[in-house]
Formats: sequence, C-alpha cells, structure tokens
Amino acid sequence: MTKKPYLIDSHEHLQFDIFNEDREEIILKMKEKNIWGVNIGTNFDFSVRAINLAKKWEFLFATIGLHPIHLFDSDFVDKSEGETKAEVFEEEKFIQLIKEEKVVSVGECGLDYFHNNEEWQKEKQRENFKKQIEFAKEFNKPLVLHLRSQKDFDAYQEALEILDFYGFNDKSERSGIVHFFSANNIKIAENFIRKGFYIAFPGIITFNDFYDKLIMDLPIQKLLVETDSPYVAPVPMRGKRNEPIFVEYTAQKIAQIKNISLEKLAEETVKNTKEVFNI
Ligand SMILES: [Zn+2]
Repeated sequence: MTKKPYLIDSHEHLQFDIFNEDREEIILKMKEKNIWGVNIGTNFDFSVRAINLAKKWEFLFATIGLHPIHLFDSDFVDKSEGETKAEVFEEEKFIQLIKEEKVVSVGECGLDYFHNNEEWQKEKQRENFKKQIEFAKEFNKPLVLHLRSQKDFDAYQEALEILDFYGFNDKSERSGIVHFFSANNIKIAENFIRKGFYIAFPGIITFNDFYDKLIMDLPIQKLLVETDSPYVAPVPMRGKRNEPIFVEYTAQKIAQIKNISLEKLAEETVKNTKEVFNI
C-alpha cells in the first residue's frame, strides 16, 4: 500500500445497507483515486461490519461505538443503515472489537439533542457518552464525537463540560475528532482544539458561505475532511447518495477559503488524519 494517500475520508459508513448493491465498485473508485477511508461504527453490528471492511481492504480503517440516536427506537433512524434496534453501550461486547488491528477509534458517540431532547433522553445519552469516553481512555484510543444541538449549541457546551470532567485539557493530544462540526462559533471550536480535538467538516460547507468565516479562522493543522457517506453529499453532487471520493469537493472548498492549492490542503488534512488515528 502506498504510504501516502491523496485524501482521507475521515468519516464514512460504507458498511450501511444502502451500499449493498455496489459497495465494491465504490471502494475500487477510492482505490483508483488513492483515497483512504475510515468507516465509522454506529452500533455493535455496524462496528463489526466496519471492521470486516477494514480487514478486506488495506486502505480502509474502522471505528467502534454507539451513536446516541441508537439508544432509542424511533422512526427517524435512517433506513439507509439497515435494520437497527435500540441498544446501550456494553463494554464487555465492544472489548472484543477494540483489540482488532485496524480499529482506530471509539465512536461515533456523543449527544444528539436535535433528535432526542427530553430530559430522560438527554440523561441516557450523557450516561452512554461517558461510558464510551472511559472505554476510549482505558484503551488509549481517540474519540469520534457526534454532537447535534437543539438550541444555543447545547450539545456542544455539555460535551465540553463532560470532557472537562474527564480531564481533557491543554496538555491533551490526539483526543479525537469532532465530526460534522456544526457549532458555528470560533470559541467553541477553539475550546475543543485546546482539549486536543480536531475539527472535521463535511459536504454541508459547500452549500453556501455559512461556515466560511469559521473555517478561515481555524488553524489548518486541526482540520479534517469527511463525507459522512451516504449522507449530505457536497455540491455538485448535493441530493445524491454521498460516497467517499466526493470528499474532494469538500477539500476543494476549504482550499478555496484558505486560499491555498487543493494539493496543499489535501496534504495537510491527510497528515492530520493520520496523526489523530495513528495510521
Ligand atoms: Zn456518521
């Protein structure tokens, strides 16, 4: 395997059912473009499936964890994943997976107050988030955070408080990634960076100029790109099923904002992604 990918899609879900028909074709397109990818676990079964993909393809990696949305049975859980039912984070189950060679991180885990914001639901999310932080610390793995607010960056603020409690501070390194960063607020972003986190942007930043100022103000040494495939394809693929090679459009947009070449941006984000995941 070439040691230098052109780009790395730091967050994708090729293990989801929606890719069952043409998964191999999509992965071969990545290979052709020398784009690596990290398939993110969203529950136990999808973590196993992410690992299986990583075993088969040397330029794919996996994370294991429980997405806050999968703590509840609900209609809005996206059917492109496949059949799922509510579960809680059980360390004894995940412990078998964390020892697999290509598992690079714990997550995606966190707080999704946009979808579930009753107090008992928030409490359940905090509890499972904390369990996964403890698990990641125990095995010295970075975290992939999923944070979605109901209002006033509530999920982000609470996550910061929880991370404070667990001792993440200005000495922390490779703490993890805040995936699909949507708190358009430099102070919040900087607070995560101080705690050793990287900030990952998906295709949504290509839709308009909403995130331009934030991206301009953030240090390139802390930025990652991702697709979150199959969701939120960047312009000009907006509305289609997303796939990892489209990460190039998101990288292009950041390069444009930063006023540097796509090649330079690609090189920097590859370096950052390899650093945080230790790959
Ligand atoms: Zn995701």
